[in-house]
Amino acid sequence: MDWEGEVKAHPDEPIELPVAVKRETGDEDANSERCVICLMALRDRTIVGVCGHEFCFECIGVWANQSRRCPLCSTDMSAFLLHDLDSSTPTKFYLPPLPQKKVPSLSLPGPSRRPILPEERLRMQAEKQELDELDLQVERRKEIYEHELYVKHIASNPTTRFRPNPTPRQIADNPELTQKATAFLRRELRVWSLVDVEFLTTHILSLLKAIDIRSEPAVRLLSEILDTPNGPRYPHGAEHFAHEIYSFLRSPFKELYKYDEAVQVSTSLGSG
Ligand SMILES: [Zn+2]
Ligand SMILES: [Zn+2]
Repeated sequence: MDWEGEVKAHPDEPIELPVAVKRETGDEDANSERCVICLMALRDRTIVGVCGHEFCFECIGVWANQSRRCPLCSTDMSAFLLHDLDSSTPTKFYLPPLPQKKVPSLSLPGPSRRPILPEERLRMQAEKQELDELDLQVERRKEIYEHELYVKHIASNPTTRFRPNPTPRQIADNPELTQKATAFLRRELRVWSLVDVEFLTTHILSLLKAIDIRSEPAVRLLSEILDTPNGPRYPHGAEHFAHEIYSFLRSPFKELYKYDEAVQVSTSLGSG
């Protein structure tokens, strides 16, 4: 669903706000209120009609593409959202139907009937070598998740300077970060052997550009995406995954293999 398009095309209607929803006057901390999805100050404060929880309009939009349960209380929020709350005419936004979930395709290419040319054979060998190398890397990544080994903050290396986690906007605006995130996701998602890697790479990348995926609601969302009923499950898998992607993004390394060589792991999050 194209959220922006939906919003523009949607016939929003002005409504009377329930008293409880109206902001009390003299609320000096209004600007410091944070959205639990992006962990930043609320932008276009939006309220879930049913439970009254507040998020940025854009954040809850990204969320609503995934799930119709409130990120905070899991109540069914499919009815409507209230936004433009700070204007004189707040609007009621009816959520469009949830898009169909894509089912991962497990079909494999059929056997080829024509003879294989020598140059084709060479290319296939090179591809197979690359795949074998990728398999090895994925096996190592699986161990990280199985044994709950967290990559230590690269700044624990005295020769590198501290780098904060990039914000969603920085990831969206910086092609290098987007590229790093894509490369990381393509490999890391193989750890969850049954998921559709290409589809989820695109999908999680768009989440990363909009929200902070270490936030508690985002981790729950990731867990719904990754922990499929028949797929592998890792202890704190989704939370761990979020930690690992930001560790790579804020590291000074552009290439995964260089990062792999440099990182140290720890059995807890706090000791980096
Ligand atoms: Zn937000
Ligand atoms: Zn709620």
